[in-house]
Amino acid sequence: MEITNVETVQLQYEMEEPWGLSRDREVGTRTAAIVVIDTDAGITGIGEGVGPEPYIVERIVEEKYAPRLVGEDPLDIEFLWQTLLTDDLYWDQKGQGVAAASGVDIALWDIAGKYYEEPVYRLLGGDAGGNGQLKAYASDLFWTDTDTMADRAAEYIDRGFAGVKTHLGRGIDADEERVAAIRDAIGDAALMVDMNCGYDRPEAFRAGQMLEEYDVYWYEEPLSPYNVDGLADLRRKLDVPIATGENEYTKWGFRELFEAGAVDYAMPDTMRCGGITEANKICTLAESFGVVCSPHCYTTGVGLAATMHVMAASPATQWLEFDPTDFPLYESLFASSLEVSDGQVSLPTDPGLGVQLDGATVDRYRLD
Ligand SMILES: [Mg+2]
Repeated sequence: MEITNVETVQLQYEMEEPWGLSRDREVGTRTAAIVVIDTDAGITGIGEGVGPEPYIVERIVEEKYAPRLVGEDPLDIEFLWQTLLTDDLYWDQKGQGVAAASGVDIALWDIAGKYYEEPVYRLLGGDAGGNGQLKAYASDLFWTDTDTMADRAAEYIDRGFAGVKTHLGRGIDADEERVAAIRDAIGDAALMVDMNCGYDRPEAFRAGQMLEEYDVYWYEEPLSPYNVDGLADLRRKLDVPIATGENEYTKWGFRELFEAGAVDYAMPDTMRCGGITEANKICTLAESFGVVCSPHCYTTGVGLAATMHVMAASPATQWLEFDPTDFPLYESLFASSLEVSDGQVSLPTDPGLGVQLDGATVDRYRLD
């Protein structure tokens, strides 16, 4: 089998209500770069790279990687990963080049699953949890007024999710008002708090002391991803687990976090960190350090599927990050309907990732 064509489809969705994040940041669009790889066997693979800029991922995939991929055997996934990321002509340790390669890698795994007629997680070693499901938390609480955030949190718990994640980071008093209200609304369900790198070290320490009072499940990205020493320091001093990793790349980047003792819950993003090949290795590395992997996943159904296959095959993963809103680029991209019940998401059973590029969805949201 040979690769015959590699291209990228950019999708964009304008949100009705922008996300509110730390330091008064707002995000009003959700974008995606979907990588499509065709073969001479008639099998097409679909992947996704989270850049975060989809047009840069597209340029790198189509102009840099496609000429190296066409004519190659798509089943030689490890060889192609090495070709894209460690070829001596092109060292790109972190950033959009790795994100673009992640999209390629995911599409190659999709091809492999379709070729061998198995869901990808079965090619990675099978269902480590043994029950065909992943426990999910609802990841949707962005900064707005306190009552709205608390009401939404309660709604997700009522729908069966065992945990919710909220985005804070706009001052410790305002943060505490929201944490207290959400904790009150969800009882003893798991509450994850994400600061999106919004604080410096003294602020992050004080916010962490405040979070200790509310039995927070994890304290996510309190500091910049550059501040590995600071994360390790917070982890030593605070009685709340530290989560980070969505802005880290490759097993080499995660090794630094693990060796520094900077993280309790590692959050590699399969669409950024190096694809399924690399996320799978990061999970193994985490397992060897006694660190839990809870991969970052806030993108389309293609990325969700890739994340699920990685998580399914590793004994070191917990908590699938799940968007509980009716995001139109989520379920419509699954080949069979996504089964979500009582906060448990069933593993895809179709060959490959179990996704498709739904024509109507692409027509409506295609950017390029
Ligand atoms: Mg986060």
